[in-house]
Amino acid sequence: MKRNEDYLSIIEDDNGAVINPPAEHSDDFSWDVLVVDDEKLVHDVTKLALRKEKIFGWPITLHHAYSGNEGLKMILGGQRFVVAFIDVVMETEDAGLKLVQEIRKRGYNDIRIILRTGQPGYAPELSVLTEYDINDYRVKTELTKTKLMSVLISAVRSFRQIDTINNARKGLELIINAASDLFQQQNIEKFSEGVLTQISSLLGEHTSGFVSISTNSDESDSHLQDYFVICGTGVFESCGGKNLSEIDDTQMKNHFSMSLTLNKQIITAEDGSLALYITSYKGGNAFIYIKSDYELSNDNISLLKLFGINISACFNNINLIQNLDAIAFTDIATGFPNFNALKKEISFVIEEKKHSVVLLLIHIDGLGKMLSLFGTKIFNQVANEIYLKLSEYLPLARIITRSARGDFAVLLNEKDFDRKKIEALRFFPLNVNQNELHLATTMASAQLHEEDLNPEDILQRAILTLIIGKAENRGHLTEYNDTIAATLKDRLNIQYHIRESFRNESSPIEVFLQPKFDISADKVVGAEALSRWKMNDTYVSPDIFIPIIEESGLSMILTEFVLKAISEWQKSRRQSEYPVIPVSVNLSMKDIPQQNFAIELLNQTDNLGLTPEMIEFEITENVIMYNPEQAIIELNQIKSAGYKIACDDFGKGYSSLSYLNRLPIDIIKIDRAFITPLLPENASRSIAATIIAMTASLGLENVAEGIETEEHHKALEVLGCNICQGFLYGKPVHIDSFNSVFCSGK
Ligand code: C2E
Ligand code: CA
Ligand code: CA
Repeated sequence: MKRNEDYLSIIEDDNGAVINPPAEHSDDFSWDVLVVDDEKLVHDVTKLALRKEKIFGWPITLHHAYSGNEGLKMILGGQRFVVAFIDVVMETEDAGLKLVQEIRKRGYNDIRIILRTGQPGYAPELSVLTEYDINDYRVKTELTKTKLMSVLISAVRSFRQIDTINNARKGLELIINAASDLFQQQNIEKFSEGVLTQISSLLGEHTSGFVSISTNSDESDSHLQDYFVICGTGVFESCGGKNLSEIDDTQMKNHFSMSLTLNKQIITAEDGSLALYITSYKGGNAFIYIKSDYELSNDNISLLKLFGINISACFNNINLIQNLDAIAFTDIATGFPNFNALKKEISFVIEEKKHSVVLLLIHIDGLGKMLSLFGTKIFNQVANEIYLKLSEYLPLARIITRSARGDFAVLLNEKDFDRKKIEALRFFPLNVNQNELHLATTMASAQLHEEDLNPEDILQRAILTLIIGKAENRGHLTEYNDTIAATLKDRLNIQYHIRESFRNESSPIEVFLQPKFDISADKVVGAEALSRWKMNDTYVSPDIFIPIIEESGLSMILTEFVLKAISEWQKSRRQSEYPVIPVSVNLSMKDIPQQNFAIELLNQTDNLGLTPEMIEFEITENVIMYNPEQAIIELNQIKSAGYKIACDDFGKGYSSLSYLNRLPIDIIKIDRAFITPLLPENASRSIAATIIAMTASLGLENVAEGIETEEHHKALEVLGCNICQGFLYGKPVHIDSFNSVFCSGK
């Protein structure tokens, strides 16, 4: 298997910063191996045989289960096993096979499995072995130390390969996350087109290139004629379907033979051409060739390397398309469908023109608190249980999803919307780790209207209903009704109020500050300004009112309002001799690409006596959705005036790689979605780790947001991300209370 080793050496090779060391590099690491067998003797013999043995220098820890059911429980218990020895016949004839099936079905794809049986000649069908990715099949009489060790070593090696690939794939997930067009691709042609588009937008317009793949998986694909062009651009546009020997380009052919003979993943030449050679784990190597009219900058080359490494992981994944889809539409923390999946389903209903669905939002009271009280693991377990319970209880639901904020959403056909049944969900009994929990819910529902053109319409109605329900009808189901409709229709009125309120002192908008904490120095080093709108004594979420403000063209006025508040705050801090700390201000995406936006903003900061030590700006990747060229001009101006710019919600947006490189960004704020699933033990294998490594390689600073638990905190310590923001360190507080709450010691 020379290929696999090559592959590993390539991704571990010259871009070490990107691929994280495997988790086992800690002092107390051992290989966790699960033995599932109903014969005690087998456990004893295995223990004896593997006692004091080491694999790649690390000891083995055995875990024991005596039935298929117990084995499954242990796996679901959260321990990460490297290998499982599973007996075929236990409580039933096929308990072992059932267990394997369950393990794979539940997404535990990396654990290596060795089946064992007492009866020789009882081997399962080959198709079973491949379908469930079973590594080996052994008769129990082969329990000798040497045999066991050789089987185990090969399984561990295979686990490590998968782990490395998964790490690389996670890096890809990030980059792909930032490149929505790659997301949507249904086949290798479209994907290749996407890769070319990304690369050429990175290098500029004057680029030609192609993606080719070989269909041979063995060593014999080292000839030009083994590689077929899937798609090409520029001078290679008409090369689709040709093999490389048919293309008249000497430089390309030189690159090809160099790539293959030296087994180099990336080759660049002074003439601005570049070759990416991707060896694949499962066959089907790829050769990508790009020719630019200009010499490539070092920056471009390092970004391309990162991209190349990630595409290589991608090609290695035969489930590429399903995976990409899964990432876009899956909640990373729980693996359940997310709001994107919900929106997709609603879009589908709208397209179908069968407008007879109801959207039900379920807010679990106290779920947020549970996270801070019990930690991520329990929280995710509870979320899992709720999800499963909902699926059982509402089997006819079109889709059940979980939002980043922890609410659940269910889309039901109107005929299946049984009010009585749904009201019964008000009390939600759950069984977690044999503990009975009684959760109370607040629910809201809204119907799809004929005039709804996109999913946002029904979502907005349902969210507003939930907000009102939470304030006025807690613990019950609130259905969207005329009064709520009036609130929505009253937008003009709301706009009027907002406009008025900016003019006089009695503004319903208030500025809150949330601290940014340096966890290595254990002190507050900055803050973020977050606006709050008070309506009938409840604070309406900025997620609701900011869009209204933006739509009404009032966002510049809001920014000015926030800047004013910060300016006064900074002045009062100076008077009280507090050190200066920067406060970041969220900019509205629609404002930035406006001509003269920067001039106007800088005018405001000047007039208010604000300087770059006092203020920073946050933008999101979506800024490029409107007018990217103008946005970049404006942002450059702000940066030239000395102000730092942070890219907010990083990883969640839909922009493309090329812009990440072109946006004048100093700081990357890692989106909460990547922090929520973090545990100290999985940190080094997380997407957050890849983002941190990548930002470091681009010379940017990192801020992590949404740190809610000690586990998140520890994980970020492991990853060396020092600047953190989240409920764990402090919720946003009114600007006037900030100093007393967070800076009492100055
Ligand atoms: P954002 O910029 O991503 O702000 C962070 C949001 O995460 C805030 O929500 C904050 O309260 C919340 N948050 C902070 N720590 C944690 C945590 O540990 N766990 C959880 N679950 N959430 C946490 P908020 O205040 O509701 O603001 C929502 C969004 O509204 C902001 O997201 C920002 O995009 C926008 N926004 C807020 N104020 C302004 C403003 O003055 N102008 C503009 N243009 N947008 C604003
Ligand atoms: Ca922000
Ligand atoms: Ca954010």
